[in-house]
Amino acid sequence: MSAALPETGSDWDELKARMLQMAAGDVRWRDGKTAVYVFNAGPEVERVQKEAYALFMSENGLGPAAFPSLARMEAEVVGFALSLLNAPAGAAGAITSGGTDSITMAIKAARDFARKQRGVTGPLNIVLPRSAHPAFDKACALVEIEVRRTPVCDYLADPAAMADAADASTVMIVGSAPNFPYGLIDPIEALSEIAVERDLWLHVDACVGGYLAPFVRMNGADIPAFDFALPGVRSMSADLHKYGYCAKGASTVLFRSEALKALMVFDFKDWPGGRMVTPTLAGTRPGGAIAAAWAVMNFLGVAGYREKQAQVTAAREAIQVGAEALGFQVLGRPQLGLMAFTRADVDCLAIWAKLRERGWFTGVTTEPKSLHLMLSPFHASVAEAYLADLAWALEAAKGGAGAEVRYA
Ligand SMILES: *Cc1c(COP(=O)(O)O)cnc(C)c1O
Repeated sequence: MSAALPETGSDWDELKARMLQMAAGDVRWRDGKTAVYVFNAGPEVERVQKEAYALFMSENGLGPAAFPSLARMEAEVVGFALSLLNAPAGAAGAITSGGTDSITMAIKAARDFARKQRGVTGPLNIVLPRSAHPAFDKACALVEIEVRRTPVCDYLADPAAMADAADASTVMIVGSAPNFPYGLIDPIEALSEIAVERDLWLHVDACVGGYLAPFVRMNGADIPAFDFALPGVRSMSADLHKYGYCAKGASTVLFRSEALKALMVFDFKDWPGGRMVTPTLAGTRPGGAIAAAWAVMNFLGVAGYREKQAQVTAAREAIQVGAEALGFQVLGRPQLGLMAFTRADVDCLAIWAKLRERGWFTGVTTEPKSLHLMLSPFHASVAEAYLADLAWALEAAKGGAGAEVRYA
């Protein structure tokens, strides 16, 4: 039965209590037992997010002339992103509502580039590895662009297969840094070489790594080149609301030049409401998300991010060692916050279900069936507890039947 709007209003105190009651069945992610959907950078960051969001919650990023504060905060956040990702002078970008928005807008720009600057007519396609995020398929479904997915090789994009799949109607090729299912950085350098040689638009989807990899590298890890340092990279997506630890509803989409960014912007005046210029998919843009991003980034600074990302690395390394000791095989060589691990002799989805009984809400990878974790700084403090329950779940699942898993 669908609910009807109440005839009369209620007290906020009562409503708040009811909402908290509704949340009683939600995962208790602040305890650190959730490793999907949420990022836990601790209560201090959460407080900055909330207070900054509330300060600008009613303001609208659609109106930069009315709210120069938001325009300035957006410009500064985009500047942070461009410098972290080695963009050349003249590069540009925007804050979007999320990774899907960023990817959709990059595809729109690349599509217009193909049509307007390269004069491509007829049906278009994009080429991506099997591991790339479904946001690309969603965007292509909207704009009727064919998606050509190529098989992965050792869980990574296969540049040769992608080069074979690309043709004169290819508007974009994609590499991920990292891909979501395996948490591995695709061979972006090889993709960049193909892009330069064939004059293809290479988009690097760094939604879940763009604000993590630079700091992991600063902490001493051998992160391969994956960003604008490579000449073939024309656009990137990097989500603020993931390892940027910003409030939800914030990502960045970045372009090698202002001219490429201009292809993204929608500028319209053929209606009675006057000229309307929107850089991203959204019309109204929540000021809170922009303000929270600006505040969290300035709150943490390079030193703060390095510290948080070192905790992510520590969690990943501890779980890798512990999982291997339990006989699991980690897929590839994860270097960032995501990892997947498997055992051929036990149904990993059954282990996943057992772990849920103990309150662990985590992810799965399906090819091959594996346990999947998206780790937050907070997980460094619960890695041992996870491993103890993993050992228990492994024993419990041995010989058990596989469970239905709703998402991958
Ligand atoms: C999360 C993610 C996306 C999509 O981002 P949303 O903010 O969920 O829309 C795209 N690509 C990768 C690799 C991601 O991890």
